[in-house]
Amino acid sequence: MLDLTPKTVAERSALRINPCKTCQPVGAMYAALGVHRCMPHSHGSQGCCSYHRTVLSRHFKEPAIASSSSFTEGASVFGGCSNVNTAVKNIFDIYGPDIIAIHTTCLSETIGDDLNSYIMDMQIPEGKRVIHCNTPSYVGSHITGFTNMVNGFLNYYVDPNNKSASDKIAILPGWVNPGDNREMKLIAEQMGLEFIMFPDHSGVMDAPMTGSYQMYPDGGTTQAELKSLGGVKHLIAFGHIISTPTAELMQKKWKVPFNLLPLPVGVTFTDKYLMALQKLSKREVPHALEEQRGQLVDLMLDSHAYTSGKKVAIFGDPDIVLGLTSLVLEAGMVPKYVISGTPKDDFTVLVNKLLDEYHITGSTVKANADLFDLHQWIKNEPVDLLLGSTYGKQIAKAEDIPFVRAGFPVLDRYGGPLLPTVGYVGGIRMIEKITDAIMTRMERDYSDEDFEIVM
Ligand code: SF4
Repeated sequence: MLDLTPKTVAERSALRINPCKTCQPVGAMYAALGVHRCMPHSHGSQGCCSYHRTVLSRHFKEPAIASSSSFTEGASVFGGCSNVNTAVKNIFDIYGPDIIAIHTTCLSETIGDDLNSYIMDMQIPEGKRVIHCNTPSYVGSHITGFTNMVNGFLNYYVDPNNKSASDKIAILPGWVNPGDNREMKLIAEQMGLEFIMFPDHSGVMDAPMTGSYQMYPDGGTTQAELKSLGGVKHLIAFGHIISTPTAELMQKKWKVPFNLLPLPVGVTFTDKYLMALQKLSKREVPHALEEQRGQLVDLMLDSHAYTSGKKVAIFGDPDIVLGLTSLVLEAGMVPKYVISGTPKDDFTVLVNKLLDEYHITGSTVKANADLFDLHQWIKNEPVDLLLGSTYGKQIAKAEDIPFVRAGFPVLDRYGGPLLPTVGYVGGIRMIEKITDAIMTRMERDYSDEDFEIVM
């Protein structure tokens, strides 16, 4: 399908081909789904909302609920005030959420709809809330939209006088799968800490089959927890790109001290999480976690003969890509190309710093990059493995490269969102997948006389 991609790289400044990102409202919708009994609402046309729901539903294999202001020509010209007023009334009447979290779209941003004043003038039923954030999709990416919605919730909800969570910490997981939410929480519990995770997609986007549809599953951060977030004793924020604005907001507005950590992928980054928790809990790391760490290191050593020196191209969202880069470096691999579609130069600084620590030279690291870039580079200097979202599968096919799916979105495989990539357990899972992919390729290419049961 991509066989005709040219090898000659031409400089492009304005054009993106096969972008390695999606639009802001996808992130805003995902963040809102991590709040208990919340209906995400897309203030724009139905087409935007359908696309955003589709990409989330296809990744998680769960219904991603959301509503739309259903703009047509009239709203596009005269503004969407009456559309959103009607929508909010209907949504509370018909679907009964506790919260409606509105995000904008390109269209409503372009015509300048003022959600702030619309919400102030709205008839909102007693005990219900409507919040909003701005997500103009012509800047940033779905990662920016996620951050904007998280900050939107905090700005609307946090009660500075609410000290009910003063003995708790807050955990901002960033954009991760529900399996990661569960693993992060499990580790914090094992360290004996009480916490509020926001947003929390476990129990929502990985809800079990019960035989009956539950529009609002049991999981998600509650309104009571949101109100108390300004009074927590400490914040652990994961992901320098996705969580820095939120951590800074919480420090500035409510004086919450924070640790900003990389997503805990691999040994070193998970160690950082453990050390931060240990400092707060003043407890020894339990044996169970030490054992998992040892197992991950052991697995890396056992599989080293197959992973060492292998060149890998990693692409996707900046924070997960940074984590995966750290993991493959620990496994002795060489991250040859490391890209993110999100336009944040901090990403290149962080990845290059990591590569320097491992004395890796000659790698290409780029933010605001696209998969056409990546494909052309691979044509000029191939890699042994591709690591990233489903959108790499055509490159993998065209160049016949082993491919491990990770990050968002993974549209064409099942089960991934239920399982962790983070923590020592997630590291074991990822090293198994990577080693499997490399060994499966070796076996495919072996001659009959070299083909052995034990490799
Ligand atoms: S119009 Fe804008 S908000 Fe809608 S799907 Fe396209 S990029 Fe996203």
